[in-house]
Amino acid sequence: MPESIEIEYYRRLADGAVGRAVTGVDTPDAWFLKDGLTGDALRDAVVGRTITGTRRIGKLLLLDTDGPVVGLRFGMTGRLLLDGVANIDHLEYSSMRDEPAWDRVTFHLGGGDLRIRDPRRLGGVLLDPDESRLGPDVLTITPAALRDALAGSTTAVKARLLDQAKVAGVGNLIADEALWRAGVDPAREAGSLTPAEVRRLHQHLRRTVDQLMARGGSHTGDVFGSRTPGGRCPKDGTALVKRTIGGRTTWSCPRHQH
Ligand SMILES: [Zn+2]
Repeated sequence: MPESIEIEYYRRLADGAVGRAVTGVDTPDAWFLKDGLTGDALRDAVVGRTITGTRRIGKLLLLDTDGPVVGLRFGMTGRLLLDGVANIDHLEYSSMRDEPAWDRVTFHLGGGDLRIRDPRRLGGVLLDPDESRLGPDVLTITPAALRDALAGSTTAVKARLLDQAKVAGVGNLIADEALWRAGVDPAREAGSLTPAEVRRLHQHLRRTVDQLMARGGSHTGDVFGSRTPGGRCPKDGTALVKRTIGGRTTWSCPRHQH
């Protein structure tokens, strides 16, 4: 599923739309329009506007225009296509098929278009989204900001990392990989981490995201291939343990993650 790494790839793709004017918007799926937005309201707001830039906060892709800001969410299975081309062929856990019927919103840009193709339609479009509801982005978070996000919390550290209001952009795979690398048990209370553990987790979180971005996606972590029954820790060969933490399937090593 797309995590901050995949959305960052999408943002780079969407940069190809900067400087182009929106000439029309197709909204075949009303479910995909969020916070009371309608197709007509979206068209009224953006048709005739020029896309002036792209930004990303966590898993939210933002298209700045000379009018409103358009927010794009990709849910579990959403992909972005610019002028008919995607820069991610398919996503883990999503269909290998590619159906134009899964296009949920299309922004026509003279001579081409920007569209979201989403089989499970868990993504969405927002107009002028409230950016203040998102925590600091995982690609740029500072050690102090991570400390603030975890401090005083009795929630499991993994659940805290997945809370987009606390740290924006950490998905299930990035969380498991970074905690595994840092040797931290995902079920530990977030507030129980020592300052040294928080610093170590911060280093591994940033390094994990950088490495997985360079390798090609959030499914390229060192422990990813062991996330299966019988899977063993690549560090010490111990059988990994599967639990549900923060509502998500979680794999960790009972030997070196404390
Ligand atoms: Zn281990």
